[in-house]
This record gives sequence, C-alpha cells and structure tokens, in this order.
Amino acid sequence: MPGEFDLIRRFFHYPTSHTDLGVGDDGALLRPRPGMQLVVSTDMLVAGHHFFPQADPFLLGWKAAAVNISDMAAMAAEPRWITLALALPQADDEWVGALARGFRDCCEAYCVDWIGGDTTRGPLNLCATVFGEVPADAAVRRDGARHGDDIWISGWPGMAALGLAHLRGELQLLDGWSESCLDRLHRPIPRVALGMALRGVASAMLDVSDGLLGDLAHILERSQVGAMIEETALPLDALLAACKRTEPAMAALLGGGDDYELLFTVPREKRGQVEALGRHLELPLHRIGRILDKSGLWLQRGDGVVEAIAASGFDHFA
Ligand code: ADP
Ligand code: MG
Repeated sequence: MPGEFDLIRRFFHYPTSHTDLGVGDDGALLRPRPGMQLVVSTDMLVAGHHFFPQADPFLLGWKAAAVNISDMAAMAAEPRWITLALALPQADDEWVGALARGFRDCCEAYCVDWIGGDTTRGPLNLCATVFGEVPADAAVRRDGARHGDDIWISGWPGMAALGLAHLRGELQLLDGWSESCLDRLHRPIPRVALGMALRGVASAMLDVSDGLLGDLAHILERSQVGAMIEETALPLDALLAACKRTEPAMAALLGGGDDYELLFTVPREKRGQVEALGRHLELPLHRIGRILDKSGLWLQRGDGVVEAIAASGFDHFA
C-alpha cells in the first residue's frame, strides 16, 4: 500500500516497556520470564460480520485489543505483547489515527507492549495476536471441570447482547440503559485480574464471546461432563431493569455473546475463596449452577422442574 511505511511510523510505532526489540525490524524480540509458559492467541474482526463498517474507529481499535487480551484472562495468563495485522480499503489518516489510539489505549490499560503487525490494502479486517505469560502448568484450561464443581460467571453477562439488539432496532431499552449496554458492546473490559487470581482456584475457564450456554458447552465437551443451571441463580436483574421483559433478558443472558465475561468452574470447597475474590475485585461473581457427571445441559426452573436446554450459541457460519 502506498504510504505504508509512513502509516507505520506515524500510527503504529510506540515505545515499549518490557520488549527487547519492537516495531521496525523483521521480527520482534521477546524475553519470557524464567519459569513462565508462553500463551498465544489470535482473534480476527471482519467488517460487516463482527462490526458495522461505519463503526467508530477508536472503539474498534479498543475492541480488537480487548477481545484478544480477554483470551489471556481466560487462560489465567498475564497479557504481555500484542501484534496487529490490518487490511484497509483506504488510508484515511483520521480514521487510522483513531483506530491506533483505541488499540493503544487498551494495550496501555493492561500493560501490553504493541510490538508489530502488518499493514496492507484490502477489505477492512483487523487481526491481533496476543502473547501472555503464565507460571508453568498454572494455566486454567477448558478440560478441567469435575462432577460437583460450581459454575460461576463474572460481571454483567447479557448487557452487550441487549446493546446489539437495541442498535438493530429489535428492542427498546429503557432510558439510561442504552448507554451502558452499548458501552459493554463497544468497549468490553477483559477480566485480566480475575483470570490471574483464579490460578489454582478454577478447574476450568473460558471467556464468553459467543453466548453463555454455547460457551459453557465447550467446557462440558472438553471436560466430558454435563451441567445443571439454576434459573433462580441467574443474574437477570440488570437486564430486566434495562428491557423490562423476561424473554429478551433471558435470551441475552444465555445466548448473547460479546460480553467477554469469564465463565469458570470451581470445586465446592473453594466457594469462599471465590466470594472473597469478588469482594476484593469489587466485581460481582455469580454462582449459576453445578457440574454433573451425566452428560447434557439442564435447567432447574424456579418451581423445581428440571428440563433439558439447548446450547444455542451464536454460530458464525449459520
Ligand atoms: P516486512 O516487510 O519485513 O514484513 P513490514 O514492512 O511489513 O515488514 O513492517 C515493518 C515493521 O512495521 C515491522 O516491524 C512490523 O512489525 C511493523 N508493522 C507493520 N504494520 C504494523 C501494524 N499494523 N502495527 C504495528 N506494527 C506494524
Ligand atoms: Mg522482513
């Protein structure tokens, strides 16, 4: 792309704090700390599919970094370095500058060094790769859930889905709530401190990007277990306050993606540790069910009746 080097120099070149060599060479030089495992994850955002082409570039930059950093949180890792590969239809200075500021702001908020990437002309597409560190064998994977473990979810799951339904005109949110729901959609907050604090506590974990039930199904499959969700334990209050109707609130909570909250399982005897952690981080942590030894996903309704439920996660190829 003409002006590629100029773009890189002006928008993609920042000082680093813990990198031997960053932007400007053929490769970056990183030095993981002794005893640490390197954790690597890539996420792509495609215009028209993951975001509206007219999306605010600052928020898009933030989100491209945040969704990747969230994968580090989900592994109980500390995010350390990130690269951004970018395809742009045209090099609009103002747009690229805002995108870079958003990406950079998120990196700074989580002490992540932006160490390289690629810039080319093409249909708008952002692909970041993040590198994190975790003490050897301390990562929390998807395959460790065991019969009897509690199932927990952090924060305010479902708010981003309400924001999206509002943007699409499918739902009217009550005054004052649309801003907070849209903020959750556009500016997700990776739960890095929580993820790291769950080392040695959580038996399995992931970040919810495609929907609570659909993502829970990944844990169940990898761990070869089932789950019972308790309807009365679901954090519906904020969602009900925002939209006033149970059905869309429930759909947003169980099927909506894009919140990047952490979904994790913890042995019963560590319940107190999780509760203390929530107080310490000033983050609501909701215990929403338990892991079963029989397979399948079940909902225990308020009246005690148990029914099978479908893990209807959002399918990118539907
Ligand atoms: P090469 O030709 O060796 O692939 P490039 O010309 O693509 O190198 O990139 C030059 C330098 O600029 C590299 O260090 C690369 O990591 C960096 N870079 C390119 N695009 C970006 C970007 N979007 N964000 C950060 N660094 C970038
Ligand atoms: Mg080269």
